[in-house]
Amino acid sequence: MSRLLIVANRLPITVSPTEGGVEVQRSTGGLATGLMRPHENSDGLWIGWSGMTAALDPPQQAALDRELAALRLVNVPLSDDLVGRFYEGYSNGVLWPLFHYLLEQIPLQVSHWDGYVEANEAFAEVVAAHYRPGDLIWVHDYQLFLLPGLLRERLPDARIGFFLHIPFPSEELFRTLPSRDRLLRGMLGADLVGFHTPAYLRHFATSLTDILGHSVEIDRVQLPGREVRLGVFPMGVDAGAFASLAADSAIEGEVQAIRGDGSVRILVGVDRLDYTKGIPRRLLAFERMLELHPELRERVRLVQVAVPSRTKVGAYQDFRALVDGLVGRINGAFGTARWVPVHYIFRGLAEPDLVALYRAADVMLVTPLRDGMNLVAKEFVASRTDGDGVLVLSEFAGAAWELPEAILVNPYDVDGSADLFYRALMMPREERRARLAPLRTRVHTFDVHRWVASFLEALGEIAPAESRALATAGAPAARRAVAQRVAETDSLLLLLDYDGTLVPFTPTPELARPDADLAALLRALASRPDAELHLVSGRRQETLEQWFGDLPIWLHAEHGFVSRDPATRQWVPAAEVGGSWREPVLAMLREITQRTPGSLVEVKAAALAWHYRMADQETGARRANELRLHLNQLLSNQPVEILAGNRVIEIRPYGVHKGRIVPPLPPERLASTAVVAIGDDRTDEDLFGALPPEAITIKVGPGETKARFRIEGVAAVRQLLRTLLETGVGAGAGRGVGATP
Ligand code: UDP
Repeated sequence: MSRLLIVANRLPITVSPTEGGVEVQRSTGGLATGLMRPHENSDGLWIGWSGMTAALDPPQQAALDRELAALRLVNVPLSDDLVGRFYEGYSNGVLWPLFHYLLEQIPLQVSHWDGYVEANEAFAEVVAAHYRPGDLIWVHDYQLFLLPGLLRERLPDARIGFFLHIPFPSEELFRTLPSRDRLLRGMLGADLVGFHTPAYLRHFATSLTDILGHSVEIDRVQLPGREVRLGVFPMGVDAGAFASLAADSAIEGEVQAIRGDGSVRILVGVDRLDYTKGIPRRLLAFERMLELHPELRERVRLVQVAVPSRTKVGAYQDFRALVDGLVGRINGAFGTARWVPVHYIFRGLAEPDLVALYRAADVMLVTPLRDGMNLVAKEFVASRTDGDGVLVLSEFAGAAWELPEAILVNPYDVDGSADLFYRALMMPREERRARLAPLRTRVHTFDVHRWVASFLEALGEIAPAESRALATAGAPAARRAVAQRVAETDSLLLLLDYDGTLVPFTPTPELARPDADLAALLRALASRPDAELHLVSGRRQETLEQWFGDLPIWLHAEHGFVSRDPATRQWVPAAEVGGSWREPVLAMLREITQRTPGSLVEVKAAALAWHYRMADQETGARRANELRLHLNQLLSNQPVEILAGNRVIEIRPYGVHKGRIVPPLPPERLASTAVVAIGDDRTDEDLFGALPPEAITIKVGPGETKARFRIEGVAAVRQLLRTLLETGVGAGAGRGVGATP
């Protein structure tokens, strides 16, 4: 098992200085509980801030160091000033409200970005100092968006996962952030980026497309030389622990004490006092219910626990005053000498008290305006070992995706919420039980341990970077392999792609005509008696004929759909052209071309292609994704395939690909022939895949590949071809140096 380095803003402890030492208490929160097991089993480290900014005297510091070492925790020291800027200022003053769609909570002028960068760099230094090859690094949450990128610079081979615990907002909102590009690039330093729900993943993917111009597959994005996987991993709670606590007899006693004689029904809310949690509107909806249903007065009460939170951030201070005021107003207006409608608790409760409250509730109100997941909802479900109780859940909590049997509310709709609170209170026992049962199964099945295991499994499945790098060796290795193979053999079979391999990409396809230097190089190679040269391109037959018609080489147009033998100079198609799919696809391509300035349609004999190299980067990538979606639907039953190339989408008949042009290679020919294939595009992967393992396959430029070698670009390809001319085939057999024209 690889060692796991968990990196989160906070260490899972609370430190309090004492006389001559420190007291260290372990946290019991969901994340800490879930991660403690792999932390201990993997012999790994947990890296984060201890929460201490106060200077400790030397004995206290020594005591803290001892305690941390015993728990395998590593402190990232942060000064008071830095915490103010990084944590309170940028993370909780800007990112938190924005990611929860609460723009009005953001300061008029965004500041403290410098503190955010500085703190992320401090984390990167500490992580890099403790990293050992083979470790898995798992970075958590919005305070550390830049960290994966900073680590990638320092540790190019490391396997890095990133999980976001809060929502990823719609791209329209995210792009308002001045530092949007850097935040996205930071996240892309990871190999795996995880979210709670598919919606958050989708928002992130749209942001990558629209802001950075990346094209995103459903679960991955291709970067130069690297792939980043995207995944959905909804976080769970320690359901077993909540269930056994709920079954404890002491808790049962407390539940009875809270419920009394049962004549007053109980609604419960448990939240950090945070403006995302929807407490004011929940109070208003409760008040509205009392107005509409006077018969409920003295028959229901709302127990609202509000845990003090982020008290140093201005927005939270104002918010507290708002909640205090509303509670006072409702209690003043409706309370009687023997009844207080809102029972307000402004402090954190210990877990047993919390579980007793969950168990005592008739109705649990979880109505955040926006919440990444919301663990309280799941804890409530896990604690209801009695199989009873109603969960009212905001549709804007990540948990709603997994818990649809709850009563789902729009917390912004106060009147609607009041109706649903009432409905929850009145729900017959049978329906309550029927709704809770599937929730309980799901919360128990997908608990926090399952969450940790599935993320780590996905991260562990990503090949370690060293083996990824070894699989495709670089240019010097390619040159050596070619030279050696050529020296050992009598003939040369050269299979070359054109665009992006022999010539650089140009704004329009016509501009990429071969220059004099290339023409001379190809002519020289082709005129060698021991060489067979194939040019295999996605281009049309007319273009290849016009540019290379006078060379004695094999020409393959449209990725091998139609080929020309140098002996006969006749073009022969590989399959029947046509198909009912062409007309509707062509119409679709023309329509998207009209809407996308700079793009164009290419009509070939077998295939249709939509090029967007000249289109605006963002628009082009976005339209390409859109087009692929529509094409997938339109063509689901058709014998065609959709191919996303380098800024081109091509639709072509099945089975017509570059792999089919490989000439027969019986063992005797293979033994005496140096086979070299070079290409840069996804379509060239078909060629690489069709060749025997002895072939020297070379990928040009970045991206996943089956090829054995990788070289940087067109200049390096031409350099390699020139070396081929100089070495000459069969040099080992003493056949002399290659011919030049
Ligand atoms: N919690 C607690 N004591 C309290 C109230 C809440 O320990 O008095 C815990 C609760 O059990 C839950 C966490 O705080 O695990 C809140 O997590 P959630 O995802 O609901 O919201 P967050 O605070 O992370 O936004």
